[in-house]
Amino acid sequence: MKKRLEMLEQLQEIDLRIDSLKNSQNSLHGELNGIEQGLVAAREEAAELDSRIAQVEQEKTEQEGLLATEQENIRRSESHMKEIKTNKEFQAIGREIAAARKQAAELEEQILQKVGQIEQLRGESTGRSASLAELEQNTAQRSGEKLAEISAIQQDIDADLARREEITKHLPASLLKRYTLLREQRRGQALAIARDGYCLGCNMNLPPQLYNSLFRGDEMISCPHCQRVLILKQQAG
Ligand SMILES: [Zn+2]
Repeated sequence: MKKRLEMLEQLQEIDLRIDSLKNSQNSLHGELNGIEQGLVAAREEAAELDSRIAQVEQEKTEQEGLLATEQENIRRSESHMKEIKTNKEFQAIGREIAAARKQAAELEEQILQKVGQIEQLRGESTGRSASLAELEQNTAQRSGEKLAEISAIQQDIDADLARREEITKHLPASLLKRYTLLREQRRGQALAIARDGYCLGCNMNLPPQLYNSLFRGDEMISCPHCQRVLILKQQAG
């Protein structure tokens, strides 16, 4: 029985270590996600900028089309003017031409603004592409480091699992089942140290008779309060 208790104690030690290794792996996965998210966000920003440039370029093309139409109108009106007979008609066409010229001048102004805007956005895009390339390289390196850490921890976990296997094959299935269930119910701790008449798992006082029987070490005794399997340790450590 003492031997089994010792084995259970070793098993719990291994299981708690595996729990903590898995926690470390989880937080590394979290960091890895964060690193990758940073790159995703930067790529999205770069793509947004590119679509903004495309949009301004399209607006500029549309305005150029309008300008060409306006200029064509002006040319047509001017050539029309030569055939005009009455002063009234002449004035009307004159007003049309003036309005069209005003419109054309406004469009030219808008197109110039778009040219400037596109130039500025392209400059931004070039800068962003450079920093994105840097970020991609940096992300690959950092992700690689995190993955290496995760895989190193996995090796430790695998080694612990092998040790665990070695122990569990010597323990009866019913005991293992009880241990597993207790671990699930008691936040990973199926065993508790008994010392000075107390269960250190739940800090409750143990009945004296039960506590005394722990000294014999010939049976497996559970704490009546938290049901953990008790291990007598009279000294700290
Ligand atoms: Zn207890």
